[in-house]
Amino acid sequence: MSAILLDGKQLSRELEAQCTERVQRLKEQGIIPGLAFILVGEDPASVVYVRSKNKACERCGIRSVTLRLPESISQEELEQELNKLAGDESIHGMLLQLPIPKHLDEAAAIACIPPEKDVDGFHQMNAGSLVIGTDGMRACSPLGIMDLLALSGVDPCGKHAVVIGRSAIVGKPAALLLLEANCTVTICHSKTENLASYTRQADILVSAVGKAGLITGDMVKPGAVVIDAGIARVEGKVTGDIERGSVEQVAGYLSPVPGGCGPMTIAELMVNTVSIAEKKAHV
Ligand code: NAP
Repeated sequence: MSAILLDGKQLSRELEAQCTERVQRLKEQGIIPGLAFILVGEDPASVVYVRSKNKACERCGIRSVTLRLPESISQEELEQELNKLAGDESIHGMLLQLPIPKHLDEAAAIACIPPEKDVDGFHQMNAGSLVIGTDGMRACSPLGIMDLLALSGVDPCGKHAVVIGRSAIVGKPAALLLLEANCTVTICHSKTENLASYTRQADILVSAVGKAGLITGDMVKPGAVVIDAGIARVEGKVTGDIERGSVEQVAGYLSPVPGGCGPMTIAELMVNTVSIAEKKAHV
């Protein structure tokens, strides 16, 4: 058996095409969706991520603004900059590229982003709304995971989903979205004993760790949907948590790295931005 690949590249193109049409309709009403990126310092990976997100904005017709702030910025100055963007009517979404330098308070900075402009879904109001099941912005990577799962055609209702990773930006929100979709959810992390005993029970397996080769074929239930959200580098090449060769032989569906969650995360960011602009315009 060879797993059916869940093509995140193709799906992200489709989502972006839908966004482009929605942006066009907004522009006909005189509204141009605006997305601001706040980049503190020169972290090379962050610079690359922001560049890719800017390019996606260009493809969709979203106006993007990148505010580059020095590594040495103080908390007070950073918050002043965030507050300025918060009050700017032409900016619909704000994204503080993480990580920010260690001397800064990440949670306090995110709290300066108004929840309705929080395209990343990281603000505590939005994170909380996911926990209690009310409306709010949802984090982009977990949304991408759910869309990749939908692409498989497998109904999540009643299935056992195992999520590896419990961060606030991928693991936990992904687990909560799976719960919302009526899965029975198990969350594993670095202190989990005998990881394989859990992963082997998973009808849906999501790995969000960042360790190449963490999941091998013998750890996967035959026919399972496997979604790799991890990003690791081996000899300069981007790879995920899943050992593709062996897992492909066992899984029913596989979202690989590269070409799975990565492009989907960016596409979901576009969707969130357009949705905010539409909501503001009462479309
Ligand atoms: P993170 O904050 O470092 O979290 C990693 C999680 O993995 C933690 O919960 C950790 O457990 C767990 N873990 C570490 N080693 C483990 C092991 N041996 N067995 C089981 N669990 C283990 O990272 P993150 O921000 O959630 O990101 C996770 C991965 O997704 C990274 O590779 C990141 O690059 C990638 N990512 C991808 C996208 C995308 O667009 N595709 C977006 C965001 C992140 P503890 O909690 O116990 O430490």
